[in-house]
Amino acid sequence: MIKNDLQIHFFRKNIPAFACTPGCHDCCGPVTASSNEVARLPAKSDAEHEQALAKWSCPYLGEHGCEVYEERPLICRLFGTTKSLPCPNGCAPNKMIDVKIEQKIHAFHRKTRQILL
Ligand code: SF4
Ligand code: SF4
Repeated sequence: MIKNDLQIHFFRKNIPAFACTPGCHDCCGPVTASSNEVARLPAKSDAEHEQALAKWSCPYLGEHGCEVYEERPLICRLFGTTKSLPCPNGCAPNKMIDVKIEQKIHAFHRKTRQILL
């Protein structure tokens, strides 16, 4: 578990940041994350999870956007930083994510049990 936390920290530092279209949350929807990441998020009730899923949304998407932005999962951070997950609004960092880092993130997702938020 500690190893996973260290990896998450490393990935977070190495996923390039970029500015989104203000107020946009078009790429938010049902996403999965490792148990290490989920453990950092405030708990949501079963009803909240079900309501979000029924709308094909994420239970942490609030009126003003992501309510857990600082702790959002890796997949949310990765979106828009690689050609395989392009932003539909054309937003992107100046330099896309290093391919090797992206591969390591995908490998991390494969080896960890993923939980639907
Ligand atoms: S990455 Fe693109 S689609 Fe997602 S919130 Fe930012 S601007 Fe919107
Ligand atoms: S955790 Fe935040 S950024 Fe990720 S899908 Fe949910 S609302 Fe969007």
